[in-house]
Amino acid sequence: MPELDTPTFRLAVAQFDQAASLMDLDSNLRERLKLPQRSLTVSIPVRMDDGHVEVFTGYRVQHDSSRGPSKGGIRYHPDVNMGEVAALAMWMTWKCALADLPYGGAKGGVAVAPKQLSRGELQRLTRRYAAEIFPLIGPDKDVPAPDVGTDAQVMAWIMDTYSQQVGFAVPGVVTGKPLSIGGSLGREEATGRGVVYVTLEALRHLNIDIRSTTVAVQGFGNVGSHTARIMHESGARVIAVSDVNGGLYNANGLDIPSLLTRYREGGQPLNALPFGEKVTNDELLKLECTVLVPAALSEQITARNASHLRCRILAEGANGPTTLEADQIVQEKGIFVIPDILANSGGVIVSYFEWVQDAQRFFWKASDIQNRLQDIMTSAFGRTLEFAGSKRTTMRMAALMSGIDKVAQAHLHRGLYP
Ligand code: NAD
Repeated sequence: MPELDTPTFRLAVAQFDQAASLMDLDSNLRERLKLPQRSLTVSIPVRMDDGHVEVFTGYRVQHDSSRGPSKGGIRYHPDVNMGEVAALAMWMTWKCALADLPYGGAKGGVAVAPKQLSRGELQRLTRRYAAEIFPLIGPDKDVPAPDVGTDAQVMAWIMDTYSQQVGFAVPGVVTGKPLSIGGSLGREEATGRGVVYVTLEALRHLNIDIRSTTVAVQGFGNVGSHTARIMHESGARVIAVSDVNGGLYNANGLDIPSLLTRYREGGQPLNALPFGEKVTNDELLKLECTVLVPAALSEQITARNASHLRCRILAEGANGPTTLEADQIVQEKGIFVIPDILANSGGVIVSYFEWVQDAQRFFWKASDIQNRLQDIMTSAFGRTLEFAGSKRTTMRMAALMSGIDKVAQAHLHRGLYP
């Protein structure tokens, strides 16, 4: 499939191939799992505020559904393409299996710069996209969630569009919704909180005191801002954060609560706020720190900058932030990597809680959510660490192999239809 031939899809397949070879995966399964199960490209005509109609391109890819409905976010970003969406869908499959969630992987996206749309345009785009992918989604089929450029409001519009088509409210068709329509407590911060839970486990493993821990976070959106806030609350010193325009550095630790308040008020770019010195995104990645958290886009740590990393732990908040060549360099430098499919699985874990609550029409307390999230994430971390030790492999390969093995078992038990 030529449309899949993109750097991000090549990265996902190369990682899969490495893990599949190490585990000697059945060759028939290998061919199937390298490709999406189902993919859809849609045209999305949108009436813009000035009256003209603009046509956007959207995608939804389901990588695998052998273990349950497929699950995965929806990304609004100008660079979205089929290869990227298919790669993200594949990573979702391994992530759900690693955390033992009864889901397969999916992903969706629209090639659009959402910040350049008015609220009305964004709503019309979202509703038309939801209508176009309607045949694929549903609480028992495929359940979208937020990702880069989308949020709870976008999920609410998708839930409403789907519900209007079937004639009754279907909260379980998406996760990451507002609380008023069946969202879950703790979902918004879940990915960041999960990054912190596994980072704390890694610090414990490496015998590093949280009070001497410094943290640099690339990306200050959903994942990055909550990771920075909760690391700060846990007692670490967050010395740098950035968004697409660059970041701020303060060796004594940034005042994250005040910084967040000022950032959310808008008005000034992050790197113009009076909390530290300006740093570029490239400089941030090379800062000396205990924990580096890439929490923006994929392929940020490359063969070009990997040898300059000066962190002890790389906690991958983003999906696919490290290229294959960079991964090799990072391992050689002895950096402890918490791979993306483990580090950022908090989002899909609490999405799973939301879906369960919607199905039961019974909602949990915030403490239930946090305790269960911590339980699942620390045990996935422990199993991955142990597996990596017993197989003498990296945390990334151990996480991938565990996830892939569960999916392979499901395929082998179900057999080939027809
Ligand atoms: P978001 O849109 O809320 O935030 C993205 C952040 O990255 C913003 O601060 C943006 O300014 C910054 N950014 C964009 N391009 C950048 C660049 N070139 N350099 C530096 N910074 C840049 O998105 P998010 O939901 O926080 O997702 C971030 C990453 O985490 C993505 O890789 C996403 O797939 C992954 N992820 C998100 C979730 C979730 O629940 N939202 C779950 C798992 C993984």
